[in-house]
Amino acid sequence: MTTTMSDHHTWRSLPAAQQPDWPDPTAVEEVVAELSGYPPLVSPRECDRLRDRLAAVASGNAFLLQGGDCAETFTASSAEAVRGKLRTLAQMAVVLARGSGLPVVTVGRIAGQYGKPRSRPTETQDGLTLPAYRGEAVNGAAFTPADRAPDPRRMLRAYHASAATLDQLWRLISQGYPNLGQVHGWTREFVARPEIADRHRRLAGEIESALTFLRAYGANPDELRSAEFYTSHEALLLHYEAALTRFDPRTRAAYATSGHLLWIGERTRQLDGAHVAFAESIRNPVAVKLGPATTPDDALTLVERLNPDAEPGRLTLITRMGADRIRDVLPPLVEKVTASGVPVAWVCDPMHGNTFTAPSGHKTRRFRDVADEVTGFFAVHHMLGTHPGGLHLEVTGEDVTECVGGCAAVSMADLGKRYETACDPRLNHNQALDLAFEVAGLFRE
Ligand code: PEP
Ligand code: MN
Repeated sequence: MTTTMSDHHTWRSLPAAQQPDWPDPTAVEEVVAELSGYPPLVSPRECDRLRDRLAAVASGNAFLLQGGDCAETFTASSAEAVRGKLRTLAQMAVVLARGSGLPVVTVGRIAGQYGKPRSRPTETQDGLTLPAYRGEAVNGAAFTPADRAPDPRRMLRAYHASAATLDQLWRLISQGYPNLGQVHGWTREFVARPEIADRHRRLAGEIESALTFLRAYGANPDELRSAEFYTSHEALLLHYEAALTRFDPRTRAAYATSGHLLWIGERTRQLDGAHVAFAESIRNPVAVKLGPATTPDDALTLVERLNPDAEPGRLTLITRMGADRIRDVLPPLVEKVTASGVPVAWVCDPMHGNTFTAPSGHKTRRFRDVADEVTGFFAVHHMLGTHPGGLHLEVTGEDVTECVGGCAAVSMADLGKRYETACDPRLNHNQALDLAFEVAGLFRE
């Protein structure tokens, strides 16, 4: 697909859903001008390489693990926070690779996830109505008029926070963090917990014997690691994304340089809207979230628009149907898209269709529902002979108490203990590993 510079202006004439009510258009233009002069955060070559990796996902030869915060905060780029996320994703990737027998492509929801779509534009507390929190690139989470006022200069801070996070990521990865020996050491600690299911322990034992074999063969697991890591976020704030879009003379195409993989959310995938037009204009691999109201025709039209050249790896469809809907809603979509012959990677987001409010008022999700949606996703693909290509998760490396259940046994009453998310509830470190083991088991059924 060839894109030209003019293409990525088309979106400007189309309705853009979920954009902040910026108080001053001149200030937005000043920010855009400044961002346009900043260096790219990721390179077109890296985006192309990720597209190749996702082509393997689409063809059934790799599995995608995409995860991170619902909403990143400017203070979350500390070395410790980034290290924790890298560690959790790396541990999950090893378990999933063992279970699936496939290479795992790891993509963080990281270094750019600063814009949030919202169900309601305002929020009311104790008689006071303020704009809803839309991510740190727009406004602050605290319920005060000052914090909630949209400020375009926050987009500059989002750029710098992304750069700082990337810096931490590449530093850790270039130091070899985390290596396979370390990763498995943590997994060994995890499965030593008494509440862990025996089948998880068996799978960990298989990884153990694989490492024993490697050592016997003269390889050192402490020197082995996955050197590839990619970044992703929702392409929501179009001024920000367009300002960081650059023409690449090598490929003669435009790339969003704010992250490797950009996705369009469930609330902004209108066929006549600006977000789809923007995604059409960039050469990055792109993804779209599909909720339970998606019709097979909607899915097919999105596929034809976003992958007109039927290029493997270009388009990932992230379904987020809810545990009770997935088995009914997903099959006709997969059938219609498969019949079109356009290759796509199918990925399961088991988080966003399973959110509810706990008695304490916390937005939460049950581990059981999350695992059940993934089970349904696998069952549908198994039935249709298509590849369950990956997972899209809200997850953190910390021991937070935001989702209930799992081996970590967070109860409804525990939610207030460490509820730290800026937006949606995330699986904590142990819940994430527990899920990785559950999903690894699904490849063997
Ligand atoms: C999200 O990923 O945080 C999100 C808002 O998802 P969706 O667009 O699927 O609702
Ligand atoms: Mn979310």
